[in-house]
Amino acid sequence: MPPGVLAISYPIAIISDIHANLEALRAVLDDIDRRKVEHIICLGDNVGYGPNPRECLDLVIERCDWSLMGNHDFAALYEPTNFNAGAESAAFWTRRQLEVEPDAEARARRWAFLGELRVRQTFDGILCVHGSPRRPINEYIFVDDVATAPTKMAQIFERIDHCCLVGHTHVQGLFTDEPDFYSPDEFEFTYKFNDWEKVIVNAGSVGQPRDRDPRAAYGILYEDRVEFIRLEYDIATTIRKIEAIPEVNDFFGQRLLEGR
Ligand code: ZN
Repeated sequence: MPPGVLAISYPIAIISDIHANLEALRAVLDDIDRRKVEHIICLGDNVGYGPNPRECLDLVIERCDWSLMGNHDFAALYEPTNFNAGAESAAFWTRRQLEVEPDAEARARRWAFLGELRVRQTFDGILCVHGSPRRPINEYIFVDDVATAPTKMAQIFERIDHCCLVGHTHVQGLFTDEPDFYSPDEFEFTYKFNDWEKVIVNAGSVGQPRDRDPRAAYGILYEDRVEFIRLEYDIATTIRKIEAIPEVNDFFGQRLLEGR
């Protein structure tokens, strides 16, 4: 087996963009456990914006088969690139939380985990990146791109065998190589794969959905299909925690209520 190719068995829960939202992550992990799904992969942005970076990193380390590097993980580890002032301030606060951890072993474990995150993984011919196959950490594949950026979409699909898993936009849904985008309610939340088309799956964001649905989002991948899931969680608690942290803008809490 070539390096970077992993053996993993279905079903596989796909989580992404947790953004240090512990209440949302716990709701998703509980649901995964209820469904007895044993494998979990994470597409990055474990931290940033949210109030519980340490706790979320610990859960990802404990529960996920592996995680990818997101732009917010990169920001905590190295430096924020193209962040607005609010996101940058939250990134510096996040780094500080990891630095001031009094337990040396826990501190070292989290830094080591962040430092070893990969920018891409493949298994079973499926490519996994946080952003896009062209720029795995930072490029967004937007819903609008199917109409406004056909060349970009064609170049992205050229790099995909048949399926690619992404996060980053926090918008749950599926791109086909027509190109087209389908939100999960258009196919009753389960999409059956075909031999004749390539797809890009975005399972959505656990901790900061931006598709106008405030519920936590994740997906479950089977050999022949992908299921998209939404879950209520205790948003009020997350907002209260964010509002108690001066370095993290209250907006990052308020936006959770609207899923934007
Ligand atoms: Zn993100």
